[in-house]
Amino acid sequence: MGKEKGLIEIRIAGLNEGVYTYTFTFHASDFVNPDLSEPELCNEIRASVVLNKTDNDITADIETTTVAELSCDICLAPLKRTLTGQYRVFFVFGDPVSDIDEHEENYRVLDRNTVSVDLTEDVRETLLLSKPMKTVCIDNPECSMYLDSTDRAPDNESDAKSPWKESLAKLKNKYH
Ligand SMILES: [Zn+2]
Repeated sequence: MGKEKGLIEIRIAGLNEGVYTYTFTFHASDFVNPDLSEPELCNEIRASVVLNKTDNDITADIETTTVAELSCDICLAPLKRTLTGQYRVFFVFGDPVSDIDEHEENYRVLDRNTVSVDLTEDVRETLLLSKPMKTVCIDNPECSMYLDSTDRAPDNESDAKSPWKESLAKLKNKYH
């Protein structure tokens, strides 16, 4: 199966209808899966899970928060960023029914006798998805200067000393 189990597990047996909040604190190294053992995620991670239980289903709202140790994509300066991720999982009691799309990953069918739900894999995914695609430092004048000059450089060059313009000029001189 290769799925993570056990780190974020919530006992639902005997739980009455209502809203329950659970908070977990852990480190990326607590996961068995190596995906999270990245140096950026070395600080403490908090995950809160809000369970909303009715007679027929359970909605689990996951929120993860951690301070990631990133570096700027442009100047490579170290940056700390607070990452927040959110994900919702629906659990429905009963037999698998046709109106639930099996491909909907966040829809799961629970047996009435289920003792606990395991959200370890969902929390891990939420955390991974909260990582930004791009990281650029703000309030660093040196970094933005570098950004501006690289933006302008290609234009200046093509105006000034483009090889084909030079040879065009030479051609014109020949025939006039
Ligand atoms: Zn930068």
